[in-house]
Amino acid sequence: METIFTKIINGDIPSYKIAENEKFYAFLDINPNAKGHTLVIPKTPVDKLFDLDEATYSALFSYARKISFAIEKVVPCNRIGLSVIGLEVPHAHIHLIPLNSMQDASFSAPKTKMTHEEFVALAEEIAENVI
Ligand code: 5GP
Repeated sequence: METIFTKIINGDIPSYKIAENEKFYAFLDINPNAKGHTLVIPKTPVDKLFDLDEATYSALFSYARKISFAIEKVVPCNRIGLSVIGLEVPHAHIHLIPLNSMQDASFSAPKTKMTHEEFVALAEEIAENVI
């Protein structure tokens, strides 16, 4: 099933892109738990993460690891947390969240507000650090 994430991958709706390759796409979450909150998704529209074929599943985590290093270089944080939820968008994705407190890991805590300009600048800076 196609979701809003397919439209983002195809460029039909805009996103603050960090990186992509043939199989994966990484972009800033529009409603972040913390600055630098990033979503890493497979381009194939599979709903549940654990339903991905094993090769794609493993490669998605490798790709997320690479993106996490770039986020960690740019965003002051104690570490990068990883969550998998999927209750809102039924297209498999990994949340990478810079953590400074347990609250940053909470999806029911108040979200971080960022301006369009802040999103653009942050995405660019993280993108520049993806090796
Ligand atoms: P989940 O499906 O894991 O519960 O949550 C989906 C996540 O995707 C949420 O953190 C939400 O803020 C994010 N999200 C939903 N729609 C969009 C969108 O159109 N653009 C971006 N960048 N993020 C989105």
